[in-house]
Amino acid sequence: MLPIERGLEIVMSTATSKQRADWMPTESVPLLDSMHRILREDVFCDADSPPFDKAIRDGFAVRAEDVVSVPTTLAIIGESRAGAGADVVIGQGQCCEIMTGAPLPAGANAVVMVENTERVSPVSVRIRKTVREDEGLLRRGAEARVGDQILHSGRPIALADLGLLAGTGKEKVTVSRKPRVAVIATGDELVEVHETPQAGQIRNSNTYTVCAQVTEAGGEPVLLGIARDNLDDLREKIKRGLEHDLLLVSGGVSMGKYDLVETVFAEFGVEILFDKIAMKPGKPTVFGHRGNTYVFGLPGNPISTMVAFHMFVRPLILFLLKAEDTSPRILEAKLEAPVKCDPERAALLPALVRFESGGYRIRTAPWKGSSDLVGLARANALIMIPSREGTLEAGESVQFLLME
Ligand code: AMP
Ligand code: MG
Repeated sequence: MLPIERGLEIVMSTATSKQRADWMPTESVPLLDSMHRILREDVFCDADSPPFDKAIRDGFAVRAEDVVSVPTTLAIIGESRAGAGADVVIGQGQCCEIMTGAPLPAGANAVVMVENTERVSPVSVRIRKTVREDEGLLRRGAEARVGDQILHSGRPIALADLGLLAGTGKEKVTVSRKPRVAVIATGDELVEVHETPQAGQIRNSNTYTVCAQVTEAGGEPVLLGIARDNLDDLREKIKRGLEHDLLLVSGGVSMGKYDLVETVFAEFGVEILFDKIAMKPGKPTVFGHRGNTYVFGLPGNPISTMVAFHMFVRPLILFLLKAEDTSPRILEAKLEAPVKCDPERAALLPALVRFESGGYRIRTAPWKGSSDLVGLARANALIMIPSREGTLEAGESVQFLLME
């Protein structure tokens, strides 16, 4: 059986080896819609930042050399406020009232905070504290110079980036188009969320968790509903699914008599590259491709589906988006109680992780197996137990996936 890393390598090398660079085309979106999307242009400063020497305190613009010995009284010769500078030149013994964000008047080289001053009259102020040159202000271009590259293609647009894009005048932003990801649930036992399950039935939950994972990864989910466990229904839905950038089918990939998904994939000419991974849960994960469509059969148990998505589908979606970092987000923690390893398969177990004295501490959470969403909902992480003999002892380092 393939270890997880080898499976991931196969997925990524398949995407990399396509004849064309197999990335999503770009599109231009309004600034606000660009949040969390993958940037596909390099962004340069259109002006120095800040564009002028600017006060970062409310107070008085002074010549530092005039306030070397304090207290001292200076003559106020003007006011500079944000949006309207003062047309004055500060000479010896003079100062200018100034507000945060306002341009520093000529001649001044520091700003004394208002808290360290005392107004003596409308035209004079007593300075009670010395300032160093450049204190209380930011020089023009201190953050970045015109023409400097401030963001690069491949970056997921985060909050500060959005602010930068706004600051550089980008009303429209070039990002990767979202891959369209068809999602099919399979199973004769499934009913929809609004329905009441009869004997032997359960509600379809995978469609919703998979769609949420697709959205989080940056894809656009397309719901194709529930396919029943018969060839006709599977053929009809899978045929439609194959018209998308990715097709995700949950359930129907184990060894049961009615697990027909892989058969139908093969009928449609999907080249299957693996159908078993040495991981628990998630063993019967299937991966293949046909033309430019990538195809996954995700094991039906809700937690298996989530884990397989996280390990294989999310990195592929990020690759298609041309994101700079496609790897699963794995963190490290110290184990609080021993965990037995499985020599056959790496295990992912629901766990409770917390941050304490400078590091993460983790322990497994009680659960009843790969269908137990109740147990999973009480956990906040999936701990990764490597496949090997023996036991991982308390105090050892382990890897985990944070479940946000
Ligand atoms: P399968 O992979 O089809 O053998 O399904 C494994 C287990 O997952 C079975 O107990 C199914 O009932 C359950 N299951 C399959 N699909 C879903 C789904 N869409 N929502 C919730 N549970 C599911
Ligand atoms: Mg099934």
